Amino acid sequence: MMRKVDYVTMRTLAIILKKQATNEYDQLVTCYTQEFGKLTAVAKSVLKPNSIQAMHLDVFNLVDFELISGRGTPIITGAQAENSYTNIKSDLSCLAVVYLFAEIIDKLAFEYQKDEGMWNFLVSLPDHFNQGRPLVDIRRILPDKQLELLNILGYAPNLKECVFCQKTELIAYNVQARGGVCKDCFLAGRGGIVAKGNDLMSTSVLNSIFESLIERKLYSLNLSDFMLR
Ligand SMILES: [Zn+2]
Repeated sequence: MMRKVDYVTMRTLAIILKKQATNEYDQLVTCYTQEFGKLTAVAKSVLKPNSIQAMHLDVFNLVDFELISGRGTPIITGAQAENSYTNIKSDLSCLAVVYLFAEIIDKLAFEYQKDEGMWNFLVSLPDHFNQGRPLVDIRRILPDKQLELLNILGYAPNLKECVFCQKTELIAYNVQARGGVCKDCFLAGRGGIVAKGNDLMSTSVLNSIFESLIERKLYSLNLSDFMLR
């Protein structure tokens, strides 16, 4: 007798993080969903001309999804874009920043782990990086949001005391040791990225932290570094 597979229909809002071609006309769509956390689903026939779904599945769209889950990868049976955030996508600096966050979440969030904090972070992100935002604002907000994401992901950096000797006056951040470094330890040869001003958590430090967690380069950093220069 054939084993019966139970198919479950799932409905959720989601933000698209990544798309990859698979088979001839299909795409694998990785998204962060409100109900189930991060997941990857198949969009069937989305690469055929005249596909109605295709236009709804752009990266960083807020989409109302219907998925069928059974054996293997869930299949997208319905997708309706609720918000395409066109005001971000017409501004390359904002787009670069939003793509950077999408890549970090794609690489570091665990699948099927619902996290309301992460969902709220994602849906509010476009409010901080929308069209016409001066570069100086984006550069100022970016490290705050990156640090917030690091905390949501559960990798809060130790900024209270030196990671080597527990002194509390820190002048640098050591990515490998995952903590601040005091002047004495720094001068004694412990490595670290020296803080500019009093701020240990600059965008470049945070980018290094993310890359060390991911254990490779972030593709979207090239674009965001270039745009925010
Ligand atoms: Zn120290």
